Amino acid sequence: MPKKRDVVLKVEDLVVRYRVGRRRVNAVNGVSFELERGSMLGIVGESGCGKSATAHAIARLLPKNGAIEGGYVDFDEREGERLCLSELPARSEELRELRGKSVSMIFQDPLSSLNPVYTVGRQISEALLAHEKMPREKAKERVVKLLERLGIPEPLKRYNDYPHQFSGGMKQRVMIAIAMICDPAVLIADEPTTALDVTIQAQIIDLMRELQRERGTSIILITHNMGLVAECCDEVAVMYMGRIVEKGPIERIFGNPLHPYTSALLRSVPVLGMKRRELESIPGGTPDASEAIEGCAFCERCSKAFGECAGALPAEIEAEPGHFVCCHLYREEGASE
Ligand code: SF4
Repeated sequence: MPKKRDVVLKVEDLVVRYRVGRRRVNAVNGVSFELERGSMLGIVGESGCGKSATAHAIARLLPKNGAIEGGYVDFDEREGERLCLSELPARSEELRELRGKSVSMIFQDPLSSLNPVYTVGRQISEALLAHEKMPREKAKERVVKLLERLGIPEPLKRYNDYPHQFSGGMKQRVMIAIAMICDPAVLIADEPTTALDVTIQAQIIDLMRELQRERGTSIILITHNMGLVAECCDEVAVMYMGRIVEKGPIERIFGNPLHPYTSALLRSVPVLGMKRRELESIPGGTPDASEAIEGCAFCERCSKAFGECAGALPAEIEAEPGHFVCCHLYREEGASE
């Protein structure tokens, strides 16, 4: 009998739209997934596929022109209470509770996320004091301890420094401290290493993994970097045009990719020792996200497209235990045509 999953976050039928001038962009079109306790889920796909919009919607941090038009989240930490994301008022007490304790986020660019006029110590403490009642001195103690754990030298002294006095990698450590200070059940890391050089990237990822192990945090890693996903995630969800087209355990997705888009993404990843000409690019571009698409959104770019593909949206099927795919090539029993 398959082991029962210990799910910490369940997202169901998430729909997000953006207004861009007169256009209505369909950013997320019914995304559903589960996150297991203490695991790392990678959400991957090309720019504009809806992965960041999904993350921002879960944390209710969409920009002003974005709206959640449907979807639910269940946080186990909230004793299974189901939240209808589109009905949660933007400034409610419930929302304040949700952010910080249930879910927290690390953004791509620490420079624009930190406030330049406040010390880093104050910025981390504020995050803590917003959720837990305690004297400022006690909060400071906790912040200094966390800074030390995050490898920031002389943490007591650096507590009073301003963001511009930190390097890029150190600023990202401060962002991790803000996100982790309240011990959130779920941490969403949105391209957390994109703005950093390769050596610092590896340090930040190692640090996130250590914290995950120590604190049992569950992580959603948003990235376009398949190599990074292969290295650190337990499960992966591949997104295309606002939908998850394939998801499952990392070894199944990388060892036996079923969706033609996943296969194409994997063929476009450089591997050490591979000659440049062996890399493939995915032909064509993505369709206009403000137009309604009837069939499979990958149809125009897919080398395996056939008659049915342009007319009907493929449903999600479980092709093998825990491995889901949305493609007309597969039927419920997992047989390929
Ligand atoms: Fe390709 Fe058709 Fe599958 Fe879409 S449904 S990925 S077009 S084979």
